[in-house]
This record gives sequence, C-alpha cells and structure tokens, in this order.
Amino acid sequence: MTEALGRTPASEAFTPPTRFAVPGRIPVSDRVASVWQTATITEIRRETPHAATFRLAVPAWAGHLPGQHLMLRLTAEDGYVAQRHYSIASAPDDSGHIELTLDHVEGGEVSGWFHTTAQPGDTVEVRGPLSGFFAWPGDRPALLIGAGSGVVPLMSMVRHHRARGLDVPLRLLVSARTPEELIYAREYGAETTPVFTRSAPEGVPVGRMAAAHVAPLLAQRPPGGWEAYVCGSNGFAEHASRLLVAAGQPVDRIRIERFG
Ligand SMILES: Cc1cc2nc3c(=O)[nH]c(=O)nc-3n(C[C@H](O)[C@H](O)[C@H](O)COP(=O)(O)OP(=O)(O)OC[C@H]3O[C@@H](n4cnc5c(N)ncnc54)[C@H](O)[C@@H]3O)c2cc1C
Repeated sequence: MTEALGRTPASEAFTPPTRFAVPGRIPVSDRVASVWQTATITEIRRETPHAATFRLAVPAWAGHLPGQHLMLRLTAEDGYVAQRHYSIASAPDDSGHIELTLDHVEGGEVSGWFHTTAQPGDTVEVRGPLSGFFAWPGDRPALLIGAGSGVVPLMSMVRHHRARGLDVPLRLLVSARTPEELIYAREYGAETTPVFTRSAPEGVPVGRMAAAHVAPLLAQRPPGGWEAYVCGSNGFAEHASRLLVAAGQPVDRIRIERFG
C-alpha cells in the first residue's frame, strides 16, 4: 500500500526546478502490469536468519524503476492460488533478472513456501512493475528510511545510485532489531546509518530511530530539498513520518509504502 502523508497548502508546495521535473507519480503501463509472466528462480542467497534473496529470471521483464513492486502468484496443483505484493530489490538493468528479498513470516503461506520449499529451477508467476508513486528515478535528493524488510525497495534505490554513479545526494536510515537481522548489512557504505533496537555492536547505542538520526540529515538541505521515502510496518511508517515532519520535511514530500 502506498500513500502520501498529506498535503501542504499550495504556497508551501514543492515546485521542482527543471532539472528535477519528473512528476510525482510515474506512469506504469497498464498493459505490462496486467500480464502474468513466468519467473524461474535461478539463485537463493541468505541475507539474515529470517530473510533471503531470490533471483528470478524473467526474460520478458519490461524494466522497472527503483522502489516499484510486483504482484507474485503461486498456484498449487489443486488450483489453489495465493498472491502477494513484493518490492523489487535489484536495480534496473537489462539482465533479464530481478531480485526479491523475503522475510520468513511465521505461518506465512507465500513467504513460507519460498523459505522452506523453493529451489533454483522452480517457477512462479509475476506481473508488474506496479505503482509509480514509490518510485525514485534518480533525479532528486533521496532520504530513505526503512525498517526490517522495508529496506528492500530502498536498497533498489541505493543500488541504482551506485550502478549509475549518480551524484545526487542519497542517504539511508535503516532500523533493525540486531546486527544479525540487518538485511544487506555487507552492502552498506557511507550513505547508510543503521539503527539497532535490541542489541548493537560495541559502541553503538541501542534504541528506536529518533530525532537525533533524522534532524541532522534534514539540516543538510540539498539543492531542491529531500524527497523522503519511508517503508516498513504501519507502526514504523507512522513513527518515521512524525520524525520527518518534526524535523521540517514538507508532508507532501514524504512517500510511504506500508508492508503491514
Ligand atoms: C507493496 C508491498 C510490498 C511488499 N514487499 C515485501 C518485500 O519486499 N519483502 C517482504 O518480505 N514482504 C513484502 N511485503 C509483504 C508481503 O506482501 C506479504 O504480506 C508477506 O510476505 C506475508 O505473506 P505470507 O503469504 O507469507 O503470509 P500470510 O499467509 O499472508 O500471513 C500469515 C500470518 O502472518 C501475518 N503477516 C502477514 N504479513 C506480515 C508481515 N509483513 N509482517 C508480519 N506479519 C505478517 C498475517 O496477519 C498472518 O497472521 C510487501 C507488501 C506490500 C503491500
């Protein structure tokens, strides 16, 4: 589910300079998004004890923008169908592959199948990409805030930023319970600040994401201002949005994707 936090009066609304003149909602082709395609699992990589990345070959994939998601469908032999939304973790490229990172939800039908049964060579169906609203084309400063598997669409943005050598500012604040549960831990660089809520490496404080994490980033004020992307559970999305607004981020420049 994707949404804007709210609207500001017209006088405060962001008027993008020409260089950033990309509409907030990026069009998604209805035709592309409505066609189911077969995807073959080609690789499974463990990220944390509860999360793994599944690389899928989708030869006719039309491409996506960082932040977009897809619909995934599993069909059992008896015809029972389960479908769920998943964010695309990989940056756009022309490899004919995309990557998803799934948390193993206890008792979960779809994530349970991926984590306990799926093997390279198995096929699923996908359609997408979906939702232009949470997409970041790489054209404006991006302040990314995620928790748990909410970091997945944000990682696509980080990877895109690196792969294209973009110089537009990008920062990631990511919350995890413990260092062991921090998805993509090995990939983060200077753009990322991890926040740990249960246990942390020595010398790193333990606690919830707070004004002290968000306010210094807002204070950097890059040209054109930040576009904020928040992703995680309902509770986390509310908390992070409040921190952003309190630190001065305009509400109409906060994009939220809720996994809960
Ligand atoms: C736009 C969008 C993008 C998403 N992207 C991702 C992603 O990149 N990675 C990812 O792992 N998930 C993602 N999700 C969540 C995903 O769609 C599923 O909800 C999740 O995988 C659980 O599905 P399931 O079939 O395994 O569990 P279900 O069989 O649907 O649920 C089993 C039990 O778990 C509870 N439950 C369901 N979902 C969650 C959850 N997320 N956290 C805790 N408890 C839950 C249910 O209430 C139920 O009791 C996304 C959701 C949305 C809306």
